This record gives sequence, structure tokens and C-alpha cells, in this order.
Amino acid sequence: MRHNGRAPIKASRMRPEHLNLREGETPLAVCPDCESWHRLTRSMISPHRDSSDKPVKSGERRYFGDKPERRRRCPGSAQRITIDLTPEQWGQALLAADSTAAGRHSARVTRKPRTAVPTPVTRLASLPAPSARLLAVRDQARAAVHVHRSECEVCRTGRARCPGGRELEIRAGHTDASVRFVHEQHEAALRAMAAPAAPRRQQWRRVNAAVKRTDQQRSTRPAGDAPKDGGPSVPETPVRITA
Ligand SMILES: [Zn+2]
Ligand SMILES: [Zn+2]
Repeated sequence: MRHNGRAPIKASRMRPEHLNLREGETPLAVCPDCESWHRLTRSMISPHRDSSDKPVKSGERRYFGDKPERRRRCPGSAQRITIDLTPEQWGQALLAADSTAAGRHSARVTRKPRTAVPTPVTRLASLPAPSARLLAVRDQARAAVHVHRSECEVCRTGRARCPGGRELEIRAGHTDASVRFVHEQHEAALRAMAAPAAPRRQQWRRVNAAVKRTDQQRSTRPAGDAPKDGGPSVPETPVRITA
């Protein structure tokens, strides 16, 4: 494979999150032209088609895994990358970049921790099943994983996972968990409604009329003829029976 004629890019000058130099894993880099992940073969970005090219209308996939229309070769193919970082150095650079990103993130968003506080009974009844919107978000996240796997040169092999693919999987996992969480809450609400924990007095009031009716029926004689005189007599004093 001949290089693309451009000057090599030093790994140390690239954003660490655009590289994967983890020990024991296939080295990966984000192509500077099309910004997709590719394997590094002999310190060159493996040849690929331009995935940033929007496929023309007729080239749209009809189903997941369908081969998209052939695209032009990406000019970032066979770009030389000079690996001037050890896996450790790269890992440290990645951590540093990640912690500043995390710092920015936490400064902007204060996320509520999801603690396992039991839901008050009064609120249970109003807990709906997962909404159509949430289910749609979950389906989209799953579809994104499928589409990515069918298109990504790295993830398609099934042997390696590019960071982008990993991120999509994590996101799909989160939406899955959200759906499961809402579903479980809803189920709990249904169970709680089926077996209301009413106070004893309230329960008694509810069955009181029925109990009274039964007591009355028990004390009145059944309708129909009374036993005739000729019937067997019932002993009114204790009877000793000897075999
Ligand atoms: Zn490219
Ligand atoms: Zn991928």
C-alpha cells in the first residue's frame, strides 16, 4: 500500500480521543478527512470510501445491513500517522482530555443521582407505562448501533469495537435501562392498585353489609316443609353406645 502523498501526522499532535493505541487492541485512528474510525495498517489509515459523503437518494439503504451505494475513495486513505506515543503516554493524554471534558460537563449540567427511593403509594397510580416517545428513542438508539455496525470498517468485523461504536452501544444500553426502569415502576403501580393496603376499619366497612346478610340467613329457617312427625327422633340426652 502506497501512502497518499501527504506529510505524515504525528500521533502526539492528534487529539488523543481520535486515536486508540490501547495495548493489545487494533490501533485505530479517526481519518482527518471523513472523521470516521479506521484501522492503522503499517502506520497508515487503511483505505476506505468516503463515509461523510451523503448517499444519493437512490443509494439509500432499504434495510439495515443493506450495502450502501458505492462511494468515492476517501482522500484520507493511506494517510501516514507517525506513532510517537507509547500506549501509556497516549492513555495519560486521553485521561487528561477526558477529565477536562468531564469538568466542563459537570459545570454545565447537574445531574440528579438516581437513588432507589420507594415511590409513594399516592404517586404509584399515576405512573404510566413507557411512553411512545421513550420507546422510539430506545429503538433509534438500537438502530444506530445496527447501522454503525453495518458501515463501520472496524466494528463490522465483530472482533474490534471503535470508540464511536462503543459510545453508541453505551447509549443504547442507557435507553434500554430507562425503558426497563419505567416499565418496572409501572408494573409496581399496577400491583399496588390490585392489592390496596386499606386500613382494617375501611376493609370492615366494605364487607359489613355482606356479613350482616349472611348472619341473618343463618338465623332464619330454610324455606320448604318442616320435618314430618314420622321422622327419626333426635336424642336429647347423652346416649352411651356399646359395641
Ligand atoms: Zn477518510
Ligand atoms: Zn465502529
